[in-house]
Amino acid sequence: MTAATDLRKQVTEAKLVVVKVGTRLVARGPGELNAEFLASLVGQIKRLQERGVQVLVITSGAVHLGAGHLSKRSQQGGLGARQAAAAIGQPTLMHYYGGALADEGMVGAQILLTTEDMQDRSRYLRVRNTLQVLLGEGIVPIINENDSVSVEGVTFGENDRLAAVVAAALRADLLIFLSDQRGLFTGDPRSDPDAEFVPVVRPGDEVSQYAAGVGGAESLGGMEKKLEAAQMTVDCGIPLVIADGGEERILLRILEGEEVGTLFVPREARPSRKLWLATALEPAGSLVIDEGACRALRDQDGSSLLPVGIVQVQGSFKAGDLVRVVDEHGREIGRGLVNYSSEEVAAIQGRHSRDIPEILGHVGDEEVIHRDNLVVTG
Ligand code: GLU
Repeated sequence: MTAATDLRKQVTEAKLVVVKVGTRLVARGPGELNAEFLASLVGQIKRLQERGVQVLVITSGAVHLGAGHLSKRSQQGGLGARQAAAAIGQPTLMHYYGGALADEGMVGAQILLTTEDMQDRSRYLRVRNTLQVLLGEGIVPIINENDSVSVEGVTFGENDRLAAVVAAALRADLLIFLSDQRGLFTGDPRSDPDAEFVPVVRPGDEVSQYAAGVGGAESLGGMEKKLEAAQMTVDCGIPLVIADGGEERILLRILEGEEVGTLFVPREARPSRKLWLATALEPAGSLVIDEGACRALRDQDGSSLLPVGIVQVQGSFKAGDLVRVVDEHGREIGRGLVNYSSEEVAAIQGRHSRDIPEILGHVGDEEVIHRDNLVVTG
């Protein structure tokens, strides 16, 4: 049996599944919702719930649904108009989800997130908690990007990335991207008759060149963003399937182990929270450490980073932020969450942990980064 066949079997045991739904499935045209698709999606979620599978939905479609209500002039107006369109379309989107769920005797919950929410550790923990409570209650979380307040605006492919971050944060067993295509092809099947379907992508397979130009105006992400998000997901040890949401019983078939869509085989599972740290967040600064500290982090499994090994602090960060740990040549050794701000680390660097209270005037952690919050990457 190949690894991919094994994995298809493993997928049938998934208990927590994140499903990302693209705009082209949710909306038929500006302002027009595809109620048939939503009913089918929700019906399948219900069947999965009955089998003990928890499902979380990341949905696009707000911008597209809202855009039809703006004047022609506004519609051509770029970012502000897209953020406004999202504000108009989001309640409509939720209204339809709510109706479809109610028809199946289920309840949904809306969560609007920005990338910044997921990058701030305390907010991320709150979000994770909320989602866990909802899932525990059998309620279906329906997540979209909070486009109207996002400082990055309505970013291309943001929901693909958001889905990957949510899947990693919740340690989901499987992430599914539903779009209007069967999966990954070696080119754009709509314009290239020679484009071949790719059933399995294994770690290390070079597939990014297949994505160029695949996508459309109303599906912001396109294949390129999907592949970036897929990379993050498999790096976190989570399998991913890209499949055509228009195909009958598609979710159920994936969960029944059928070989539909493109399956991305994950890297060997590593503790996902740590991996999530390494992939999802943008480090706020760097700590340069000496050779002895590098050795300790690399060789002694489970070492924390102590102030004595730090030779320089770069950037400005606060306690709890993600920082890069680099050697004296600037090579990355790892990433982790710091217990002290950049000013505090600068004050205690090179010193013994027992001197911390005297230097800082308060008792603090012995470690600058505790091993539980550290991932060695290099
Ligand atoms: N959040 C956007 C929407 O609801 C879509 C962004 C995306 O598809 O990545 O319309």
